[in-house]
Amino acid sequence: MAEVLVLAEHADGEVKRVTCELLTAAARLGEPAVVWAGPGAEAGRERLAEYGAARVYVADSADLADYVVAPKAELLAALVADKAPAAVLVAGTAEGKEVAGRLAVKTESGVLTDAVDLVAGPDGHPLATQANFGGAITVHSLVRQGTPIVAVRPNAIQPVAAPGAAEITAVPAVLSEAARGARVTERVTAARGGRPDLTEAQIVVSGGRGTGSEEGFKIIEKLADALGAAVGASRAVTDAGWYPHQFQVGQTGKTVSPQLYVAVGISGAIQHRAGMQTSKTIMAVNKDPEAPIFEIADFGVVGDLFTVVPQLLDEIAARKN
Ligand SMILES: Cc1cc2nc3c(=O)[nH]c(=O)nc-3n(C[C@H](O)[C@H](O)[C@H](O)COP(=O)(O)OP(=O)(O)OC[C@H]3O[C@@H](n4cnc5c(N)ncnc54)[C@H](O)[C@@H]3O)c2cc1C
Repeated sequence: MAEVLVLAEHADGEVKRVTCELLTAAARLGEPAVVWAGPGAEAGRERLAEYGAARVYVADSADLADYVVAPKAELLAALVADKAPAAVLVAGTAEGKEVAGRLAVKTESGVLTDAVDLVAGPDGHPLATQANFGGAITVHSLVRQGTPIVAVRPNAIQPVAAPGAAEITAVPAVLSEAARGARVTERVTAARGGRPDLTEAQIVVSGGRGTGSEEGFKIIEKLADALGAAVGASRAVTDAGWYPHQFQVGQTGKTVSPQLYVAVGISGAIQHRAGMQTSKTIMAVNKDPEAPIFEIADFGVVGDLFTVVPQLLDEIAARKN
């Protein structure tokens, strides 16, 4: 059975959930083999084995952590040439998509991004489901040239535990001068106050212009904390400076696909929907019954958020007790 390469997303040896999701998708197409760029593979091995990695190709070089995306694309290109995998899967994050694009150029292969599902299609080729135009159109796509490269949206596929050997194989990390063009000089960890990462979170609570101010937006953080959720925001909020830009959800912000997305005081403009429409369950709180967000909401509450959210907080607290 041909290997399917999965580029691991990891931090400090901790395997990110999206990698387990990619391993589950890879097992549908062939034998899952992880590509681990940088140090920390031993620490992550157990989790990779739990989710079905047969092999882990480790390029343990600090260069791979220090030189942004280009070295990862070079590493994958070398492995594609050497192993002739059935496909290469990467996380559909900003970094993953950039690696995918560069890899596609290097290997003269087709690339599919923003896949929300992946199965074996005709002749066993990976058949991706993509949600296009803000989720308004669902497309099924196949790569016809080279090695299929697919960037899969985080949280789109439910990871399924399936034991694998996760046999570690060291591979050389030979970098070209061009790959050393942009180096990471400093890393600053954003203070998240223990909240989950926005793109990985199972629950996201997002606030919009309806919160009225930076002070008013704090109710969104309260609700998020009560639910153990990540905080998101519409562009109206980030543009107004009420909440930092890295939490913006939408076409020009982050793409999320959680189990539950709670949109509070958000109208549901097409550019916002583009980043959250594939959420499994959508709940909206808006005082305008005609707000477009209700067109895609599974549950909707028409009312003033400053009346509805405190009631919701009371109910959550009561149930927790
Ligand atoms: C090229 C481009 C890219 C864009 N990218 C993004 C993007 O990535 N993400 C994004 O979000 N937007 C993006 N936008 C902007 C987008 O078009 C909308 O302007 C924006 O999403 C609106 O944000 P909002 O829903 O918070 O505000 P509004 O559209 O102003 O909606 C506020 C809502 O809150 C409700 N409301 C008000 N007060 C209350 C209350 N007290 N209780 C309950 N409900 C209340 C109102 O009824 C209204 O529905 C982009 C636009 C362009 C042109």
